[in-house]
Amino acid sequence: MSKPEAPPTLSPRLHAWLDFCQELGLTPFVRRGKSAARAASITAASSAAPVTAEPGAMKHKPPAPLPSVVVAPAAATLSLFDQAPARAKSETLEDIRADLGDCRRCKLAPHRKHIVFGVGNPKAQLVFVGEGPGAEEDLQGLPFVGRAGQLLTQWIESLGLKREQVYICNVIKCRPPQNRTPERDEIETCSPFLLRQLDAIHPKLICVLGGVALQTLMGKAVSITRLRGQVFDFRGSKLLATFHPAYILRNPVADRDVRKDLQVIRQLLA
Ligand code: URA
Repeated sequence: MSKPEAPPTLSPRLHAWLDFCQELGLTPFVRRGKSAARAASITAASSAAPVTAEPGAMKHKPPAPLPSVVVAPAAATLSLFDQAPARAKSETLEDIRADLGDCRRCKLAPHRKHIVFGVGNPKAQLVFVGEGPGAEEDLQGLPFVGRAGQLLTQWIESLGLKREQVYICNVIKCRPPQNRTPERDEIETCSPFLLRQLDAIHPKLICVLGGVALQTLMGKAVSITRLRGQVFDFRGSKLLATFHPAYILRNPVADRDVRKDLQVIRQLLA
């Protein structure tokens, strides 16, 4: 009879890493190495593990050969995540909005009319994340209420849902002047609030709209054209990126790709 295998001894460094991951809501995959010392060699900079969505099923791809410890969700670099203070799991959207207050943390504040925090169901299964408010959103203090918003509403309704059933927000909460692309410092200042919103809602699926939102959540320069339609693990939710509705208004031919992505969303929510 073979002897039962002794449980591996975890080094203090590995313990500290596991605690850190847990605090951030990340799920470390730990593979037993030949020795505890080997297990302590940590690789955090893994890219997100894609999950293939097949009709009627969410299936994890068998993981690629793992280094000793791999962080599976899309926290490719921790640059944004380690800025987000650890929060109690019970934080609500109201708490986060109150903490945001009359925000003056970045250079966008003097230009805005309203902070556009987010709108919808705080217990939504599906969250849409855009880039940042445009002119109409800035006026109304609500996300996606301009032309791009009308198209997003059509997409939501094509899923058999109403806007009030989902949650809609952006990476940055204030309109950049002339609707320019948000700058790195603005994203780094504002995105911890987005992460806290996502943690508070903890939806089944996060649908990221466009490259800026995708790169923000992935924490690195990635191509929306290459990654759209793929499903990733992200802080306990699934994450799928599709084109931004404003891009589709300019490039209607890409609408067929969005239709495919909406099909995947429908399957994931089923
Ligand atoms: N574009 C975005 O990314 N967000 C909005 O809220 C409106 C337009």
